Amino acid sequence: MSQKRILFVFAHPDDETFTSGVTIAKYTREENATVALLCATRGQAGKAGDPPICTAEELPAVRERELREAANILGINQVDILDYQDKHLSDVPLDELADQIIAEIERVQPQVVITFAPHGISGHPDHRAISQATTRAVSQLAPDSPVKKLYYCTLPSTGPFPVRTIHTDPEEAITTLITAPEYVDVTAQALLAHRTQHLSVERVFPGISQGDYRHVRGTNYFILAWNRLPAYQPKGKESDLFAGI
Ligand SMILES: [Zn+2]
Repeated sequence: MSQKRILFVFAHPDDETFTSGVTIAKYTREENATVALLCATRGQAGKAGDPPICTAEELPAVRERELREAANILGINQVDILDYQDKHLSDVPLDELADQIIAEIERVQPQVVITFAPHGISGHPDHRAISQATTRAVSQLAPDSPVKKLYYCTLPSTGPFPVRTIHTDPEEAITTLITAPEYVDVTAQALLAHRTQHLSVERVFPGISQGDYRHVRGTNYFILAWNRLPAYQPKGKESDLFAGI
């Protein structure tokens, strides 16, 4: 494969860094790999910080800037944002959202697509909606599409995690572990770039604002949800998203 391409599909600015920070940083630093991100909203229903960094009216533009800064830190090559309303993604007809994702797949030509697990980790309805729409989009691709794998990002039920995670998956369901502790610092910088979200960043990663990165995970967890690799038989857990491609 001459050029490896990964497309992440998420609901909100910051989903990418919370779920997949070290994975993104690892692949963007490979010479022949690129990473694209499709984000369905500007996170306009989120908090603006305490004390607020901006007004509610300014929040969509501020969060878009924060996302682009975090993406730069992680090395993401392309960021595309859809105009949907935060907290209302599940109101969008599934086929409409899936069509937008198919259009992005056509632009990016990825071999690997990644979204939330169906439970959405936090259980946010937008996370569930983007997972469902991405799954549908991939299921509708033509047989000659470059997409060979769809992954769900998740967390293992074994933890330990500083906050109670609402939804996890048992260790045996997790097919793929991307471990890259050398990118914990970069991931922490990207998390801190989501300045308006400092309350949730500090809740999930206590101490991060004081330079304590011990809660920033050096491993990300994925489930291979779909593949178009008829002869592929992974032996044990995968450690590379492109294994078998
Ligand atoms: Zn989110």
